[in-house]
Amino acid sequence: MKKRYLAGCQNVQSRETQGGPSLPKRTRINERGLDKLAKLGTVREAALFETLARDAVRCKLCERLCALAPGELGNCKTRVNASGRLYTLVYGNLSVIESRPIEIKPFFHYWPGSTALTFSTWSCNLDCPWCQNSSLSKTPPDTLNSRYYSPEEIVGMAVGYGDEGLCASFQEPTLFTEWAADVFSLARRRGLYSCFVSNGYMTLDALRFLADHGLDAIKFDVKGNSQTYKQYCGGVRGDEVVWRNAKEAKRLGLHVEIVNLVVTEVNDDEKSLRQFVQRHIKEVGVETPLHFTRYYPACKFKKPPTKVVTLELAYQTAKSEGVLFPYIGNVSGHSYENTYCPQCQILLVRRDGWRLKDYKLTEDQRCPSCHAQISIRGKHVRKPGRLPLWV
Ligand code: SF4
Repeated sequence: MKKRYLAGCQNVQSRETQGGPSLPKRTRINERGLDKLAKLGTVREAALFETLARDAVRCKLCERLCALAPGELGNCKTRVNASGRLYTLVYGNLSVIESRPIEIKPFFHYWPGSTALTFSTWSCNLDCPWCQNSSLSKTPPDTLNSRYYSPEEIVGMAVGYGDEGLCASFQEPTLFTEWAADVFSLARRRGLYSCFVSNGYMTLDALRFLADHGLDAIKFDVKGNSQTYKQYCGGVRGDEVVWRNAKEAKRLGLHVEIVNLVVTEVNDDEKSLRQFVQRHIKEVGVETPLHFTRYYPACKFKKPPTKVVTLELAYQTAKSEGVLFPYIGNVSGHSYENTYCPQCQILLVRRDGWRLKDYKLTEDQRCPSCHAQISIRGKHVRKPGRLPLWV
């Protein structure tokens, strides 16, 4: 894939070369440091926090709900208490910007064939040891050397490239909610869609704030059951809040897809897979697409890749329990990447990884054979020969 704009993010390149960030290994910033930060375009007062006694604050962006003394950074290292107010350090501080097919996220039922200008900031609020994007998610922002991207600049870039939408992805986008909200509001006025690829560990307030500011679609990466969160990911409120948020996102009218990274010897046994499927049906219903994706050894986790037969079992379990649109991911060319009509079973969409190979649905997203309405939002976009991605 051709990276269109990575060179513009100078801090990505320099920091990868240097092998690490220059800012917070420490968890406190002194008054002089705070004065310096306050002058930067990437530092803004946070949208969601409450003040506590003795100039402490509580961040209400994600369910870690960090309580911070003055000068203290949150668990994610993207928020700091400066003199009794909470500030984000990542407003428009981007690590990567590139145009990507929406299928790669994966969104299989949302604007099929379209591209989204995709971007990220730094760090994460969870600690999953198998993170597949750890160069970004395990790196805190280098605030003093950051370059500020305005919402106008990003939306203008998407329009200029001919993208249909925007997507916040790669690391946990909840961490730059304030900036994403400003970008998405502008994007909606310019006729672009906006989506999030998220671990879903935000507060309800954060989710509603994003929806109010133009978020259209969200992919929730549900790690497994509460034990998976407690043992590996550091999210003590576990899967409960993620499923709660997925359900609320549906209620708010957002397009929702669910992903479960099936990790070897963590959440890959038959019982866990069946329980996951049943929870999916209970919280978001049989029509919501469910992707079981293949894990590869990464970051600190070295178990072998997920067996393909395990992913096939997950798919078949989902089918037998009644999920209408199960998929497997990271197994390029597998027939379980395709969409089949749940009514007459004919092949509707053929995929090879993120490549859309064949699209047989009618313009109003119906099966051409039995006319069943298929839950796909947005239009099918054809971009023949425009991008090297599509050959
Ligand atoms: S976003 Fe989450 S991890 Fe970061 S400071 Fe706020 S509550 Fe803590």
